[in-house]
Amino acid sequence: MINLKDFGIKQTKSRQHILDILDNSKEPMTAEDIFRELINEEINLSTVYRTLNAFYEQSIVYKEIDKDGKALFMILREKHKHVLICTKCGKKIFLKECPYKNIDNEILKETGFKIENHNIEIYGLCQDCQKKGVLEI
Ligand SMILES: [Zn+2]
Ligand SMILES: [Zn+2]
Repeated sequence: MINLKDFGIKQTKSRQHILDILDNSKEPMTAEDIFRELINEEINLSTVYRTLNAFYEQSIVYKEIDKDGKALFMILREKHKHVLICTKCGKKIFLKECPYKNIDNEILKETGFKIENHNIEIYGLCQDCQKKGVLEI
């Protein structure tokens, strides 16, 4: 179970509840999906949004935007995280899975070195900034 205190977030009943709902969900959820499961709690939708964004900033969850422009949230289960950092606007996007597992295996095969952990940050341009870049030309 994820302990919010480890992430510097004050633990409240509703925050923990939101986290548990996400933790038990196999599918990414919107704030509305989560809100619907919180029927017996005194919480409003904007609090759910705020909580989810706080989780996102602490990289407890990842966020993706679906084709309708809705934000979907899902728990990050990887022990370590990879972040894409936009060099233009500074936006951070967390990857939901480690893309380097195979590379770790390749290195093991080639060198016999067993990798325990790695720390990789990826720099580039986010989608928004790529679009802006095209407009500027
Ligand atoms: Zn950007
Ligand atoms: Zn990794």
